[in-house]
Amino acid sequence: AISTSTVIGRTNPGGGRRVPVGLRKPPMRIVVTGGAGFVGSHLVDKLIARGDSVIVIDNFFTGRKENLVHLFGNPRFELIRHDVIEPILLEVDQIYHLACPASPVHYKFLLTSTSEVYGDPLEHPQKETYWGHVNPIGVRSCYDEGKRTAETLTMDYHRGAEVEVRIARIFNTYGPRMCIDDGRVVSNFVAQALRRQPMTVYGDGKQTRSFQFVSDLVDGLVTLMESEHIGPFNLGNPGEFTMLELAEVVKETVDPSATIDFKPNTADDPHMRKPDITKAMEFLNWAPKISLREGLPLMVNDFRKRILDEQK
Ligand code: UDP
Repeated sequence: AISTSTVIGRTNPGGGRRVPVGLRKPPMRIVVTGGAGFVGSHLVDKLIARGDSVIVIDNFFTGRKENLVHLFGNPRFELIRHDVIEPILLEVDQIYHLACPASPVHYKFLLTSTSEVYGDPLEHPQKETYWGHVNPIGVRSCYDEGKRTAETLTMDYHRGAEVEVRIARIFNTYGPRMCIDDGRVVSNFVAQALRRQPMTVYGDGKQTRSFQFVSDLVDGLVTLMESEHIGPFNLGNPGEFTMLELAEVVKETVDPSATIDFKPNTADDPHMRKPDITKAMEFLNWAPKISLREGLPLMVNDFRKRILDEQK
């Protein structure tokens, strides 16, 4: 769902000279909307680790305090329960927008968009220049069109209000802290295999996705924010897998006796998805480092602990 809001404040609390955002040296004060979520909490860890002060704004619709509890008591960390569709007054240097759109005036603003802007793509792999193939009235179009609108608004803020903006198009991402039961394929397969239930493959399982480990994404987001480039940039791992191949990797990693149960697929499911990351490699000098086979065990360890906790 998309709503707009205003985050108001000044970049230079001391007043006077305005330091160009790109040249500002850490430590900075940074807002992460959606910072209690899966990707957000990993991003917060990285920013805190490098010495910045971080304010998380999260309404906990899908975010979880457990993702941040290790930071409670850290003087450089603050957590605000707040829905970003309501205005909030804060003085910060940068905003990573992982929740909903906001319209700051003097900050650098990074929108986390999505590979879903390409819809069920007719171009493969997908380059940033591809305008996409989205069914505007389909069951998943609220997400796709919502993010497309967010990109439009972000560019309008840039052109109209001269907001310094960044747009990342995030491809399928997995890793520790992912919601266990929100129905994504990697989390479903891993949780199912750990619970000794069959892995549910939708359709014939020949549709493809390209899975990136969360730390690669977080590196990409920070690199993009710090760069001189607006984007959009695809951030994803070009390693492409069918859902059947993914089930095989999960089986190898979690339980060699895991089985598959075929279920009907949802409408408008994209048949294939793979990022062309040439642009990010060239302009951001960024590329993912962790393959699915390397990253999956790290997620499995986290899921194993959480699923055992549930059973206590
Ligand atoms: N999928 C599946 N089994 C599941 C959940 C998803 O086979 O238990 C398939 C789904 O049909 C889609 C792919 O996995 O083709 C990726 O789905 P997900 O919701 O993880 O990501 P998205 O479709 O948003 O890329």
